[in-house]
Amino acid sequence: MFKDLCDFRNFVIDNEIKFIDFKVIDLAGRWHHLTITASRFSEKILENGIGFDGSSYGFLTVEKSDMVFKPDLSSAFLDPFSEVPTLTMIGNIYALGDKTQRFEGDPRYVAEKAEKYMKKTGIADKALFGPELEFYILDHISYVNSSNHMEVYLDSEQAEWNTGKRDIKNLGFKVHHKEGYHVDIPYDVNFDLRNSIVLKLEEHGVPVKYHHPEVGGPGQLEIELSFGGLVEMADRTMLTKYIIKNEAVRHGKTVTLMPKPFLGEAGSGMHVHLQLFKNEEPIFYDEHGYSALSRTALYAIGGILKHSPALMAFTNPSTNSYKRLVPGYEAPVSICFATSNRSSVIRIPGYANKPEAKRFEFRPSDATCNPYLAYSALLMAMIDGIKNEIDPVKEGYGPYDVNIFDLSDEERVKIKGLPKSLEEAADALEKDYEFLLADGVFSLGIIKDQIKRMRQDASRVNMTPHPLEYEMYFDL
Ligand code: GLN
Ligand code: MG
Ligand code: MG
Ligand code: MG
Repeated sequence: MFKDLCDFRNFVIDNEIKFIDFKVIDLAGRWHHLTITASRFSEKILENGIGFDGSSYGFLTVEKSDMVFKPDLSSAFLDPFSEVPTLTMIGNIYALGDKTQRFEGDPRYVAEKAEKYMKKTGIADKALFGPELEFYILDHISYVNSSNHMEVYLDSEQAEWNTGKRDIKNLGFKVHHKEGYHVDIPYDVNFDLRNSIVLKLEEHGVPVKYHHPEVGGPGQLEIELSFGGLVEMADRTMLTKYIIKNEAVRHGKTVTLMPKPFLGEAGSGMHVHLQLFKNEEPIFYDEHGYSALSRTALYAIGGILKHSPALMAFTNPSTNSYKRLVPGYEAPVSICFATSNRSSVIRIPGYANKPEAKRFEFRPSDATCNPYLAYSALLMAMIDGIKNEIDPVKEGYGPYDVNIFDLSDEERVKIKGLPKSLEEAADALEKDYEFLLADGVFSLGIIKDQIKRMRQDASRVNMTPHPLEYEMYFDL
């Protein structure tokens, strides 16, 4: 937003800014914040930064927990939610003691390095990312009052369908179970809330492609962002989640972007559309190629599919992620590519056939990822595939333009499945991370921290008695 400090000062005066708020990301992808009065902001802060305790941010490999962040003036935006005028900026993390040395574990630094590396290889000079955010809107009061999140949903109309309790004579404008996709008002009860979220996004520099109710309606919604560069889109993804959550709370609602909040209902993914450009020209299009894809696009797909089990550690890093990736919910389960097939890791949208629109969609990812790390890992896998000419057809990844569940058992076993748990994804990353280390983009420290955190989360969940275990074993 600002080119220099002078630009910044004028804005602070003109807009009567009272506070400067700093957002700093942790390893898991959460923003933390710290605030100063506008009058305290100085050149010194830009130069020396502000100290904080990095140990509560999940950066485990740092011996000393004291760290410093420096605000990025260009990332500033007027906070849409604070009562007094507040200007917010994203902080970049630096190692303590050396003001010029970025901290290797800062996810935003990884993303910057990934973009630089892409340019250095000469393969492409621009990577575009187009995420689709799916999430559920819930009733705020019942959510906070209930210790069991399922209960909240069981109050809803669909749950009555599930349990057969629905009164067939009283169907007035109630969304049918699993039929929420694109339903019009009055079924679309969250239309106004979604509109106000999207208006705020656009006002804050996040262009939106479109938004709509999703399959798990009326509570499940989707917002697709217009494409943007790696760091740019990771920043926008953070801001989008911030605006979705805060706007919902201000409407007396709450939101969850967790991948599988409800048994038997559609999960929430965060599919990412991918495109590469060189000298302003799209490099994924070839009118004679399979689904009008160029060799480069196919190799990029090959790289992603080959590394997909390891990629999951960054694109699907929660225990809940793997409850979504099961058959029957349009979530991917098979390591393959296809045109318009929604159970494959990579889907090529059948309707995008102009050179500048040619792209493919990575479907496994969900919003529990750290977007800087997830998008960087995807770019690194594409570069690896293109450099090493990994041909997805020769590697047996498809294309599978059939319903995978209609294939014979013999055919089906040839298609590998995605990791089935967080532990399996951690195992996969432990075996396959060289492609992430190229040119120092990911540090070994960040990979080790990620694996450690995943194993800790998995063991916490595994050690906890599950409600279903009472049903199955209590009386034995
Ligand atoms: N909700 C599905 C998922 O979990 C996607 C549904 C769709 O976008 N068609 O990925
Ligand atoms: Mg979509
Ligand atoms: Mg969707
Ligand atoms: Mg999609």
